[in-house]
Amino acid sequence: MRIPFTGPLPPPLIIPPSAVTKEGAVSALTHFLKAPAGSAAPLSEHAQQAKTKTVLLTGAGISVASGLADYRGVNGTYTQNKSYRPIYYHEFIASHESRKRYWARSFLGWRGLNRSKPNPAHFAIGDLGTLGLVDNVVTQNVDSFHGLAHPKLKTVELHGFLRALVCLSCRRLMDRDVFQQRLAELNPAWAEFLQQLLASGALDTENPVERRRLGFRTNPDGDADVPGAPYYTFRYPACPHCLRRPPILKDGSKGHVDVDVDGAWTSSPSGSAPSEGVGILKPNVIMFGESIPADVKTAAEEAIDSAAKILVVGSSLATYSAWRLVKRAHEQGMGIGILNMGGVRKEEVFFGELLPERHHGRGSGDGHNRWEALRRELVRASLPAEEILPLVVDAIRSSSSV
Ligand SMILES: [Zn+2]
Repeated sequence: MRIPFTGPLPPPLIIPPSAVTKEGAVSALTHFLKAPAGSAAPLSEHAQQAKTKTVLLTGAGISVASGLADYRGVNGTYTQNKSYRPIYYHEFIASHESRKRYWARSFLGWRGLNRSKPNPAHFAIGDLGTLGLVDNVVTQNVDSFHGLAHPKLKTVELHGFLRALVCLSCRRLMDRDVFQQRLAELNPAWAEFLQQLLASGALDTENPVERRRLGFRTNPDGDADVPGAPYYTFRYPACPHCLRRPPILKDGSKGHVDVDVDGAWTSSPSGSAPSEGVGILKPNVIMFGESIPADVKTAAEEAIDSAAKILVVGSSLATYSAWRLVKRAHEQGMGIGILNMGGVRKEEVFFGELLPERHHGRGSGDGHNRWEALRRELVRASLPAEEILPLVVDAIRSSSSV
């Protein structure tokens, strides 16, 4: 995963123009989801029948109404905190100090994330699944809200999930709540600080400005920032399984997990060989600089390919792994809908055939483009998903009960 594009985005396109209002957007999205097929490419009758569904692609914007910060909205991490830079995979792997800092911040931020719940947009997506219009969801989010809101509708978690950690040696998962308890045991002073933060109300407010006033910042990956905190004092455990049964290393020797008497990770004593990094627990998310596993990538591509249309909800597609999925859908002639507050990275690539300047002065030569635009279902609205999607579900339900 690369650091997302963080430059300013152009103002959002609105397609059709009536989608500028709530009613117009609901009507356009209802039509989009119900349209039998969105493909511009001629399909056989069989393929037409199979390919009528919409695949959902969601990003941080859909979880803002759950109280999580997003990256690029008005109160987003990149907007409010210009110096924010997430940890890179190689830093996490290589450096005990980086992991201390990461886990200290995560320890403080977890409660806020763990208390947050799916919002009406997630539940509306579940309803679209029940109505038979959506078979797959691909999400960039690591908050597990889709699984909680609609356990029966398949979700590909493109960037992993925070609900568990993975051991980099034995690949076993560890529940994040169990790990949180271990962190509290190993760090009584930090646990007390967390209690103070709770008492101050910094974790009760969903307003990022108010949180900052209380000396506390949170980011969408469950990371919290307390300026000046002594991160170097933080202690974190190693994988309990690898501690009991050290794994055999590639060279055939037995691995060694470096922990102190309490089971907290220690760096190798100075002068000794550097630790092999056995039993490192990592949040089960794709960090920057880490690649998406091949099976997850394939599952996401299959979810796109099996659908006739793609609807992006709450993503500015600033992350390339998400943008390329929409590009893939576009190249297949699929219908494209985007419901996102504010601009979207290079969205003119997807909607270009509808833009006036593309048609201007081309005479009759633009006939093909116009025809394609009409054959391909396109919707673009810049309104809150938690308000729009439940209304779309209501509209579809009332139209099909007539
Ligand atoms: Zn392990």
